Amino acid sequence: MIERSIAQLAEMITVENDITEIQDVLFKNVCIDSRKIEAGNLFIPFKGEHVDGHKFVRGAIENGAAASFWEKDVPNPPTDLPIIIVEDSLNALQQLATSYRKQLGLKVVGITGSNGKTTTKDMTANLLSLKYRVQKTEGNYNSHIGLPLTILALEPTTEVAVLEMGMSGFGEIEELSNIALPDAAIITNIGESHLQDLGSREGIAQAKLEITKGLKKNGLLVYFGEEPLIQDQLGNDFSFKTKTFGKTAQNDLYPTKVQSTPNGSLFYTNQSTEIAFSLPVLGQHNILNALAAMLIADEFKVAYEEMPEALKKLKLTAMRMELIEGENGEKIINDAYNASPTSVRAAIELVSTLEGFNKKILILGDMLELGKEEETFHYEVGKDIPTSTIDYVFTFGNLASHIAKGAAENLGTERVTSFENKEKLAKQVKSIVESDDLILVKGSRGMKLEEVIEYLKSSS
Ligand code: ATP
Ligand code: MG
Repeated sequence: MIERSIAQLAEMITVENDITEIQDVLFKNVCIDSRKIEAGNLFIPFKGEHVDGHKFVRGAIENGAAASFWEKDVPNPPTDLPIIIVEDSLNALQQLATSYRKQLGLKVVGITGSNGKTTTKDMTANLLSLKYRVQKTEGNYNSHIGLPLTILALEPTTEVAVLEMGMSGFGEIEELSNIALPDAAIITNIGESHLQDLGSREGIAQAKLEITKGLKKNGLLVYFGEEPLIQDQLGNDFSFKTKTFGKTAQNDLYPTKVQSTPNGSLFYTNQSTEIAFSLPVLGQHNILNALAAMLIADEFKVAYEEMPEALKKLKLTAMRMELIEGENGEKIINDAYNASPTSVRAAIELVSTLEGFNKKILILGDMLELGKEEETFHYEVGKDIPTSTIDYVFTFGNLASHIAKGAAENLGTERVTSFENKEKLAKQVKSIVESDDLILVKGSRGMKLEEVIEYLKSSS
């Protein structure tokens, strides 16, 4: 964020105190963690579950913050410090981001969907960087706090911002979209995550479509064309353009001639039989993510011939389909970052299609937050595990035991075991694994399945 005075701040947000005495104080960038303050920052204290950020206001200013917010109903605001009283810190942060966004001349791409947001965000930013100065959401900073902070970190020289938008309930993406005012938007797919809060997959589609609430008139919405729910919920009455991506020819962009490679895939698209794309990340679903990113890049006039080069350089964040080597030379796909039925099925499909391996072993953990039908979801994922391509299934956790139950119906109980202890699970896997085997490790973040990988990699 470029430098602003407190007087300018008071024009951007609702301020509840008299700021005359501090109106000329200048600040640059906001910060919500008093330990990370840089000179001249505006400190924003939040009342967290365990600690109240107001306790750190004095320390933040001593560490160099130029000024600080202070919530109205928190008693005893310090009178000797440059304090801006606001009704609610979160609200003020969002107001500030909304106003700053409007002052910036740049374009915004917003990305939502059940799976693949971060990946698609990174791909889109890579492609747009061919032509523009691009900033993107760092890591997974996609929430009602992360998104405004990302916007406030935008530099005036940036030409395009690629922003991830996450949610756990209705109204959240609308709020983010109204702050970010995207010129273009992507809905990667509709899965089952947050089914607990949204009631149905229709509800999930509706919540993702909230990204169009702030979408510019005549802007572009890119979405997964093989999800009928998006089309249904979208209807026909809207004032933006749409383009779809997917596996089949009914879409604006789809892959032709797909080939799996040891560390990713090679594909052509319907746009050109000449231009090959080699994607250095595993999984067919990543081709879909790349297609979505390519439709956006095309909208921003990035030349199609130049796109392969930018996708080739892609690096994904840790624990998303990360390929590592185990103790005995076996390959382990670490996808322990998160899991939902859609993404687990996509990962199993990937493992099934990869060639050049002897045994294929799945280590699956609970998929959390699926609502009242969670046991059925687990059971069905297990039941659909292909017996011809998968040799062993090991599960960890109570819910995942239902995956084991479903899997055992086809694979038989000798090839399927459910565990309540990660170390024991790893021991069992070690007793059967050989150098040319492939292991997939996947579960919800809360299950911390990377610990199983640690056990697998330790020699004891
Ligand atoms: P989060 O909600 O945690 O921010 P995200 O939507 O940003 O997740 P990514 O971090 O890009 O998603 O990917 C997480 C995992 O989802 C990947 O490791 C992969 O297993 C799966 N995944 C990614 N893209 C897709 C897709 N298009 N369809 C299905 N599964 C996918
Ligand atoms: Mg993400």
